[in-house]
Amino acid sequence: MRNATLVNGVPEYDLIICGGGIAGLGLAHQLALRGDDISVLVLDLLSRPLPPGAFKVGESTIETGAYYYHGILGLYDYLEAEQLEKNGLRYFYGGGHGDFAAREEYGVRRFLPAKSYQLDRGTLENHLRDLVEADGCDLREGIRVKDIEIGTPHEVTFTDAAGTLHRARSRWVVDAMGRRRYLAHKLKLDRDWRGPCSSAWWRVKGKVSVNDFVPKSNARWHARIEDDRWQSTTHMMGKGYWVWLIPVAPDNTSVGIVSSEAIHPINTYGLNYEQALEWLRTHEPVVAQALEGHELMDFLKLKRYSHTATQLFSTDRWACTGVSGAFADPYYSVGSNMIGFANGFICRMLEMDRAGTLNQEYVDHANRYLLTLNDFLTDTIQRGYPNHHIGPIMALKTIWDYYIGWTTTDPQFYHELYLDPTLSKIMSGVISRIVVTQARMMTLFEDWGRRTDTTGYTFEFIDYIEHLPTLKDLHVRNLPPKTDDFRMILDNTREAVDRIEELAHIIFFLAVRDLMPEQMARLESAGWINTEAIGLDPDRWERDGLFAPKTARRDFARHRGEIEGLFTLRPASAGV
Ligand SMILES: Cc1cc2nc3c(=O)[nH]c(=O)nc-3n(C[C@H](O)[C@H](O)[C@H](O)COP(=O)(O)OP(=O)(O)OC[C@H]3O[C@@H](n4cnc5c(N)ncnc54)[C@H](O)[C@@H]3O)c2cc1C
Repeated sequence: MRNATLVNGVPEYDLIICGGGIAGLGLAHQLALRGDDISVLVLDLLSRPLPPGAFKVGESTIETGAYYYHGILGLYDYLEAEQLEKNGLRYFYGGGHGDFAAREEYGVRRFLPAKSYQLDRGTLENHLRDLVEADGCDLREGIRVKDIEIGTPHEVTFTDAAGTLHRARSRWVVDAMGRRRYLAHKLKLDRDWRGPCSSAWWRVKGKVSVNDFVPKSNARWHARIEDDRWQSTTHMMGKGYWVWLIPVAPDNTSVGIVSSEAIHPINTYGLNYEQALEWLRTHEPVVAQALEGHELMDFLKLKRYSHTATQLFSTDRWACTGVSGAFADPYYSVGSNMIGFANGFICRMLEMDRAGTLNQEYVDHANRYLLTLNDFLTDTIQRGYPNHHIGPIMALKTIWDYYIGWTTTDPQFYHELYLDPTLSKIMSGVISRIVVTQARMMTLFEDWGRRTDTTGYTFEFIDYIEHLPTLKDLHVRNLPPKTDDFRMILDNTREAVDRIEELAHIIFFLAVRDLMPEQMARLESAGWINTEAIGLDPDRWERDGLFAPKTARRDFARHRGEIEGLFTLRPASAGV
């Protein structure tokens, strides 16, 4: 990378990145790996060594976010050696009372086909800072950014550790200062969105493992998972909340309570550690007990954590990445995914700018793409909170969300289609076939949970890879390495959309059979329906066109058997 030039005594860079957290450092390293011959200044408040073990929240990655680190940032060897491989997301439903072993479990038996990791953020960011320096970026630590003046060039004002004021100028400026959201506030990019969920989290020394929640004598429970459950991001699910347990290498544990403010306001658990423990004793007593004797490393909280914006990128050559822009609900650990998308767009915009081809249309595409994804994720996730205790509904919702995420969004990231507005538009055209169905399904899950706390179905364990061969097949065929065979990705997406339409039938039929079995004959005799009219009010079915399918009938008996076979009928439930 190049050095800055001095213009009238002020250093001038191609790019200034304000904030050297995971988003800012990731961007700097990504640009270097691309071989971009530009000058980059990275400014951050904190100096090395960043503390290991309990630095920042955001330890858990899923497949696409992990791919950003190991595939795009080239950190595979580092992650394998220094961080912990993650054994997927794992959910225990039903609330925290009763026999832990009897809680319905949704997870994986073995590590997933695509790698993911549990990250100690302090260790990772120390490593990234070393890399960014070795790349030739000008990395300054102990620096407080005071102001970003947008212009041509932009001017950033900052103070060093001694309080001395400095200025630097740049063609591009990126806000990566996390929750400070400097540009969002200054440029009034905030969109009115009172995030309905809050969280308190902390780290403790030592392992707090779900393996210890069930006696070893219950060999069946232990044997049903082959790779270590401890390496999962474990969610204890109860009405309106989830509690996470995340292992952090070498053997610390991150714990968090996340809740819907309407059901568990943060003032019932977020005041301090003692209050959080008291809350756990009431709602998740097994976790509270397991924490006893572990030394507390930190305790943090955030009320109404999610946010969104009107804009993240501009033809005026500024951008926001990471939390400084938009922040989706962390339930599916998507933080690093969003950083990967944002940084991909920023790299492409810098490249276009150098070539003189950056235009409003492209920037509009990038803004629309990422903000739609952010808002979609948050809405989809947060509407589920009231049902978190109901295993079968949440398992079906999670299966649904995985079908959507793994087959429509993730391939666009792996194969970089999102960066190309034309390809992205063609993909959107295919995916648009299930947009209304998606909205209907979210309402269906909400309504189902509103009508019952215990469905007529139950399950012991669902492995979302081994027990779901259709999903696994759709997922695996889209994984990296990156391909330029757009036709193949498109064909995969078309097939995924067909399977998703079938899944809508299957889940709808299960819900109707559970709540109003007397209506099943109407559905069975129709066989194939208009999934855009799915809903739990039978009086509306005719009017909404449920029995006028928009697609040709398909035989989905095998697919139906696969999903229905995950559940058994709850003995006490009559009529299902
Ligand atoms: C409850 C909760 C759970 C989460 N769980 C996950 C998860 O499981 N997985 C996941 O991927 N993400 C998760 N996240 C999100 C995660 O925190 C973010 O993905 C990640 O931290 C974003 O990194 P960032 O670089 O944008 O911000 P940060 O990591 O906050 O970095 C911002 C940087 O800017 C610097 N800075 C701030 N102000 C200034 C200033 N004035 N001058 C100079 N520097 C400054 C800071 O020192 C910091 O280094 C979670 C978030 C919450 C709230």
